[in-house]
Amino acid sequence: MIAMPQAVQANPDYTSEIAERTAPIYDRVKNVFSDEEWVHLAPYVDEIERLKKERNAIILAHNYQTRDIFHCVSDIVGDSLALAQRATEVDADVIVLAGVHFMAETTKILNPSKTVLIPDPQAGCSLAESITAEDIIKMRALYPGVPVVTYVNTSADVKAVSDVTCTSANAKQVVESLGADRVMLFPDEFLAQNVAAETEVEIITFPGRCEVHEKFSAKQVDDLRRSYPAVTVLAHPECPPEVLQKADFSGSTSGMANFVTENKPEQVALITECSMSDNLVAGNPETKFIRSCSLCPHMQLITMPKIIDSLTNMTVEVTVDEAVAVEAKKALDNMLAVGRG
Ligand code: SF4
Repeated sequence: MIAMPQAVQANPDYTSEIAERTAPIYDRVKNVFSDEEWVHLAPYVDEIERLKKERNAIILAHNYQTRDIFHCVSDIVGDSLALAQRATEVDADVIVLAGVHFMAETTKILNPSKTVLIPDPQAGCSLAESITAEDIIKMRALYPGVPVVTYVNTSADVKAVSDVTCTSANAKQVVESLGADRVMLFPDEFLAQNVAAETEVEIITFPGRCEVHEKFSAKQVDDLRRSYPAVTVLAHPECPPEVLQKADFSGSTSGMANFVTENKPEQVALITECSMSDNLVAGNPETKFIRSCSLCPHMQLITMPKIIDSLTNMTVEVTVDEAVAVEAKKALDNMLAVGRG
């Protein structure tokens, strides 16, 4: 017997046909959304599901994506690299990337025969925009022979002039795999400093920052612990080093998600973009999430109506110059040969 909510709030768009068609999804997400929220969301969900079938499309949603997209219409969720990799295993003609632009580029590089759409091309990233291919070329001239490792949060152009990419999960492993005394690790300054604290390799940094993670402070962690003495603090490596020093665990978004699922802490604070907590609540009902509330403004640009528009008009298609894609893929493959982390 499939559960269906009562139309607890008048919404002329929430018809009995829509209620019936979306009932299986409602059944899956009814612990995440109130009936009032569902009555508002269901017409969008219904239309997106229809368009997905019509276009043979899938939706990839980043861990920082809003709850409605993450839980109701996504087919694959995860960190940026996991999304792009898992999309290669799916038989779809069209991929809608519910995330930011560099993620859509990475998806296109790993899925060249598929049409990749981003519902809002303005969804950028302060970190990816902090460095250009020209910057890398200049830094190579300053440090001849020193290998360049770039974070996956970069444009395809930047990846194409890098030796190897890395994620926040495998940055140390990638740096050490090169067998060099000195390595350039760009562009996230804090990630580079956090890796430098754990390795003998000399790390050359670049002044790139994530506008969300750079704002967290050690004082915030102290305040959290004072208010919630039993809290387990998990921090993303894009945070300043003094924040990581005060955390119980540091890891990528996937690393933090796995930590919560495996360790089932009673109370947890994720020092990262706060949609991540919203999205982990459903799968971890025994854990109380203490919200840090710092939203990525770029992720918030992706909305259900924009996904509908994207699938209806097949916009905005993300393309990567073929020569750039070939070189960028080499840097990604070099990382994958080291390990996903
Ligand atoms: S959270 Fe930071 S790194 Fe992630 S997309 Fe937003 S600005 Fe970029």
